[in-house]
Amino acid sequence: MCRNRTWVCDSQSKNAVCTMYGEGHFITFDNKYFTTNGNCRYTLVQDYCYINNLKKGNFKIITETIPCGTTGASCSVAITVFLGVHKLILTDGQIDVLERSGNVNIPFITRKMGIYLVIETKIGLVLVWDRKTSVFIHLNIHYKGKVCGLCGNFDGNSENDFTTRSRCLVEDVKEFRDSWRTSEDCPEVYLTKEPCAVHPYRIPWAQMMCHIIISEVFEKCHEEVDPLRFYEACIRDTCACDTGGDCNCFCTAIAAYAQACSEACVCVHWRSPTVCPLFCEAYNENNCQWHYKACGATCLKTCRNPSGICESNLKGLEGCYPKCPTERPYFNEDEMQCVAECGCVDNDNSYYKLGENIESCNACEKCTCTKEGIQCHYDLSACNCEYQGQKMKIGEIARLEESPNGCQIVKCEINGTVTLPCYLTEKTHKEP
Ligand code: CA
Repeated sequence: MCRNRTWVCDSQSKNAVCTMYGEGHFITFDNKYFTTNGNCRYTLVQDYCYINNLKKGNFKIITETIPCGTTGASCSVAITVFLGVHKLILTDGQIDVLERSGNVNIPFITRKMGIYLVIETKIGLVLVWDRKTSVFIHLNIHYKGKVCGLCGNFDGNSENDFTTRSRCLVEDVKEFRDSWRTSEDCPEVYLTKEPCAVHPYRIPWAQMMCHIIISEVFEKCHEEVDPLRFYEACIRDTCACDTGGDCNCFCTAIAAYAQACSEACVCVHWRSPTVCPLFCEAYNENNCQWHYKACGATCLKTCRNPSGICESNLKGLEGCYPKCPTERPYFNEDEMQCVAECGCVDNDNSYYKLGENIESCNACEKCTCTKEGIQCHYDLSACNCEYQGQKMKIGEIARLEESPNGCQIVKCEINGTVTLPCYLTEKTHKEP
């Protein structure tokens, strides 16, 4: 809202973000911070809570965590998103879509934005995933007070976020966490010692690497987002990170703080050739230049989204972005190049190049991707019949010798298959 000639945010009507990052760090929709370990599958957030499945919800997000070092700290290795009949699995930097049926319009789109993969849904839910251990879940205000899980209930009060699945308000983070397990048979996890106590020799290095969060680099953000919790989390993760991928641990922790700053409208250029560098120039080819942006363009003109208009109003996301020249204004994510003209995307979200032939569900129809989109026309040569799960071309014959009515054949004709006695075809064959 505009007040006294400046823009102010009305916190009562704001969409909210739940963050899970690094080694078991959470920030709920109502801004409660907590850290917990546990190796299981947990409900991060879902709607239609406490209704005993009488009515199916719109969505449910589950995280699967495993140990990510020898100290007992846990990292998320997979995130599963249930959206109506669709199931999305985010793991190994990739997204897999399962249980997608036929021509149902998919209620989400995915976009690569910098280091993140963004999943935008039509129901007021946006996931921003760093393809590793961090995920930012943006939820529309209309879900206020209507969700539950490790991300809390989004009612504006951080005091009641430790509400268990059985609706008890608890103090103990372990009790809260375990109530949101999706299976009962996970091993019990006790983190007896803090990671830095297990590896005290790592403390000086961790402090040196994480210091950037409380340094002048992030100074303009300190007032907006308290750096101390992120600093402590960074130290803990850097101590815990003892099975390789050292840099990943503190880079993820710093990136999470930078992202929280970006959400608060403070853009910080924190990466450098010595601190968690991203080498965007490595992508430079095929007529487009890649550049690092600390708070990147939120909505690019891409072939999957040529209008350049996006459903969600995401704040800047860091990473490498292509800059397309004016004569090739669209970025083609599927071919990783800037193009003047895009190919086609069908209802199933599959991408086709210009001129590519597309298989049609309708017999006698030939489809091609053109500049005007997918064009189909009647073509006799494309006619076919389906018989016992097999496609047959016009004129093709399948034999059914064992039929009770004697020798019979199945023939594919323009209007579909016909069954004829064998002698009829033999006669036709003899015709000149
Ligand atoms: Ca709450």
